[in-house]
Amino acid sequence: MTRVAVIGLGNMGGPMAVNLASAGHQVQGFDLSAPARDGVAGHGVTIAADGRAAVAEADVVITMLPAGAHVLACYQEILSAAAPDTLFVDCSTIDVSSSREAHALVGKAGHRSVDAPVSGGVVGATQATLTFMAGGDAGAVAAAEPLLTVMGKRTVHCGGPGAGQAAKICNNLILGISMIAVGEAFVLGERLGLDHQALFDVASTASGQCWALTTNCPVPGPVPTSPANRDYAGGFASALMLKDLGLALTAAGENGVDTVLGRTAAQLYTEFVEKDGPSRDFSAIITDIRSEERTHGQH
Ligand code: NAD
Repeated sequence: MTRVAVIGLGNMGGPMAVNLASAGHQVQGFDLSAPARDGVAGHGVTIAADGRAAVAEADVVITMLPAGAHVLACYQEILSAAAPDTLFVDCSTIDVSSSREAHALVGKAGHRSVDAPVSGGVVGATQATLTFMAGGDAGAVAAAEPLLTVMGKRTVHCGGPGAGQAAKICNNLILGISMIAVGEAFVLGERLGLDHQALFDVASTASGQCWALTTNCPVPGPVPTSPANRDYAGGFASALMLKDLGLALTAAGENGVDTVLGRTAAQLYTEFVEKDGPSRDFSAIITDIRSEERTHGQH
């Protein structure tokens, strides 16, 4: 049994905390929002009065917060309340610079740290099938692994501090661009009179093969479980894709990489989220590619 503090009990952190409690760990949770706190109360998670109280007796502190500024502010507040050598595991998706800064703050306060952003979304958090991309020294990552195994199915140690965040944003840079590529191909196929299934049957077994096509196919039919079959409900929200593309572009700018397609993808998702809202699965961008506004004069 490990004493765990979970700070940030939202869509992701809530079910992660519940899974830890269900596995027999002693979990103290805290969130600034009352509905988030209420969502886990009664599921084995004890709600602490504040972040400092949550971490005071913890062996491991897990944070699942919106952005780098939240993680840094939270760490500034709680680090001095934790016992020496507490393990801090930040599972939020944040910019690489803030993540490295967070590691430095933790180290300075006499604790150990891991960045461990996830893929798998709310379904993965609920069903404990997340993949963790971990950054930090090998000893700290090994110490975090027993708990990560409770909340997910796979952990990849990607390197030193911030390497988990780096892997996550590089992966999602590929994903954001490839979803637009798949969407453009289907819309072009439609205009050429090509059946969705025919294009899928060719591309899914040829060089166009990718996750955006074979698992998250943006048209209904070929992959019955993809969000396109339920009007793009659930899945990975467009706003989160836009967030991750923004993090990738920030890192690219800081490191002198000219991500031409990444910039274009971010621009297209910015416009899409403005028009369609933040919530639908990011594969719904095909509806924008198909729209009269985009294709006017092109056919
Ligand atoms: P969310 O907004 O549902 O939850 C974040 C919670 O943090 C909120 O309840 C908020 O009140 C709380 N919070 C903010 N500052 C706090 C503080 N100082 N102390 C205590 N609580 C605080 O967001 P989410 O969907 O759970 O996402 C969390 C993180 O996981 C984000 O970094 C996101 O990018 C990442 N992520 C989300 C998904 C997804 O599908 N939702 C998938 C992969 C990664």
